[in-house]
Amino acid sequence: MNLLSTCVLGSSSAGNATLVWSSETAILIDCGFTPGYIALQLRKLGLSISDLDAVFVTHIHGDHINNGTVGKLVRERVPIYCPPEIEEHLRKKYYSAAMASRHGFLNSIEKSAIELNQISVRSFEVPHDSEGGCFGYSVSYDAGGRTKKVSVSTDMARPTASIVDHMANSDVIVIESNYDVQMLEASARPIWLKRRIRVDGHLSNDQCGESLMQIIERSEVPPKDIALAHVSQECNTNQIALECTEAALERQGVRGINVSETHPYKPGRTITV
Ligand SMILES: [Zn+2]
Repeated sequence: MNLLSTCVLGSSSAGNATLVWSSETAILIDCGFTPGYIALQLRKLGLSISDLDAVFVTHIHGDHINNGTVGKLVRERVPIYCPPEIEEHLRKKYYSAAMASRHGFLNSIEKSAIELNQISVRSFEVPHDSEGGCFGYSVSYDAGGRTKKVSVSTDMARPTASIVDHMANSDVIVIESNYDVQMLEASARPIWLKRRIRVDGHLSNDQCGESLMQIIERSEVPPKDIALAHVSQECNTNQIALECTEAALERQGVRGINVSETHPYKPGRTITV
């Protein structure tokens, strides 16, 4: 059986990393945790950092890339990929990324997709206020005649037509459901920060549901699994996020999709398709 698995190793504004793997290939999307945390979570899944075939970085914010982890990746000879728009920003912000670049382990994705065995990884731009831009990734796996697809976007101010196109026809979608509108408004956060989150930062639970409906409408077959990521610890709860997405699916009469939660410092469910 040619199976493709996905596990969000952890997700919140404190750190993000998602593992996608088949029997031959394992990749990490973002590495915003310490090397110790990532190694521990990989070990639970029977893998080690040296088993990774590549790590893909979405943007330069510190909850998506960790200096120590990049150093460890270089020592373990794991290549790191990023879109060309953010490569220089990564080198400037993280000394380990500059070192990775000097040793040939930081590569920008010049072609439209990176091919690793039967896995092909494609980046797509998402709006999010990060220097150089922010990107989501879709991972396609040639499972012997049928393509299995996982799409990951953990930071997104709003859906765009291009995002919907790239995430359509996925078997698994990892998408952020960052905040509850009322909880954000009621929070003690300064007005500028509330505005930043709403306008240029993150998807609310309602926007997550709307984005998913657009992706599903654009898909020939709806996804089997949706994992809700980057849930704010201050302005949201997993329960509210799950209820909101489930209600959005219900309103549109979409059934049979597993919606699962993710956690800041604990892996979510392993999803296998
Ligand atoms: Zn960010």
